[in-house]
Amino acid sequence: MPRELAILACTECKRRNYTTTRNKKTSSNRVELKKYCPHERKRTLHREVK
Ligand SMILES: [Zn+2]
Repeated sequence: MPRELAILACTECKRRNYTTTRNKKTSSNRVELKKYCPHERKRTLHREVK
């Protein structure tokens, strides 16, 4: 099973706060998650970046 490293960046401040691994087969779309941004001290939308 090919696993790919995905970097999640805050959509508001563009900082890369999280990394995760994802299954390439099951998720072909970009990952979007509500995550806590330590720079803004609130929950924001984080999106996968390359
Ligand atoms: Zn942020």
